[in-house]
Amino acid sequence: MSETILFLAHTEVDGSLSRVALEALAASISLNGLLVAGLIGADVQAAANGIGGCGARRFLGVAGEGFAASCYGADAAAVEALVRAAQATIVIAPQTSRFARCLAGVAQRLGGRIDTHVTNVASGPKVTRWYYRQRMEAVVERVQRPWFLLVESGTAPVWEGAPGAASLELIPVEVSPRTRVAGRQAPKAEQQTIRPDAKLLFVAGAGWTKKQADGAAHIDDAARLILGFLSATGASLGSSKSLVDLSGEGQAVLPFLSHMNQVGQTGSTPRHPKGLSTCCHGEEPHVVGWRFIRERRAVNLDANCGWSRGKADVLYVADAFAVIERVNAMLAERGVH
Ligand SMILES: Cc1cc2nc3c(=O)[nH]c(=O)nc-3n(C[C@H](O)[C@H](O)[C@H](O)COP(=O)(O)OP(=O)(O)OC[C@H]3O[C@@H](n4cnc5c(N)ncnc54)[C@H](O)[C@@H]3O)c2cc1C
Repeated sequence: MSETILFLAHTEVDGSLSRVALEALAASISLNGLLVAGLIGADVQAAANGIGGCGARRFLGVAGEGFAASCYGADAAAVEALVRAAQATIVIAPQTSRFARCLAGVAQRLGGRIDTHVTNVASGPKVTRWYYRQRMEAVVERVQRPWFLLVESGTAPVWEGAPGAASLELIPVEVSPRTRVAGRQAPKAEQQTIRPDAKLLFVAGAGWTKKQADGAAHIDDAARLILGFLSATGASLGSSKSLVDLSGEGQAVLPFLSHMNQVGQTGSTPRHPKGLSTCCHGEEPHVVGWRFIRERRAVNLDANCGWSRGKADVLYVADAFAVIERVNAMLAERGVH
């Protein structure tokens, strides 16, 4: 059966499409079906032009101030209208928090099915996803249509085709007056330490808060070094469970860390190309969260830590305080801030 593939995306604050949206576009094209693009946002013409050369037969849009920010009612109505207008059998969208919130509801409304956290889309269509905290991988096929797929970031190549003037068909959609977006509050980009698109994952372990060779803990130095490294490199900050649990034990903590940063069995499994672990022992429940990190390095005082047992490509047996102090100085010398 020939499928009609709706590539679905929402614009960012500046009207562009995110990196993960362009990955979802590449996944949509790879199915070789009848491709339709569906965009949601305050104004979607620039985004449509940006992907003008993607080969879509139609460019559909739902636009207006009511669609600028994430809002369940407006987004669900917009997606429903786009799926109906495209007569889509497969809907491929990026796994953003905005779509994760509303697409399951739309799938239900349209009598379809949804699979989230998809890591591969292949002809068939067959989709790959992980279950049971990334321990089991399954390849799924479904007969129900429309079939909604939310594609994880970092799992498909970013679409890099040519832009072009897109002839946009705008679909009118009423915004429900019941919900009104009064404003948007988000931490400043430099305060946001979880950065899924970063090339490097920097993990801080509990060692940063432990007594050091002089018999004292150096929390302020740890915070300065970690934040200095993050601001110079744009790396994403991960943490071990022990470090984020410390606050519950009444110990001195690094204030910019929360359970959201935790990587591992009971934390996240991020997908950065490289990872650098510091002051973290590298125990299995933590390292299992590194399974998608392709190149791994660790800094630990202990030559027998978990990383030395085949879990890291390179282990530097060294004092992370001294190493990161020196790395930050070298970055500053090179003018990287
Ligand atoms: C069911 C279950 C689920 C779990 N889930 C997770 C999970 O999701 N994520 C997770 O992280 N853990 C998880 N754990 C806990 C995990 O087993 C470890 O206890 C935890 O990862 C240890 O954290 P850590 O390595 O930061 O701390 P520690 O074990 O205290 O290690 C600190 C390390 O810092 C090093 N160090 C100290 N000072 C320095 C210095 N100056 N320079 C360099 N190195 C230094 C030390 O040598 C040591 O290796 C789970 C455990 C269980 C039982």
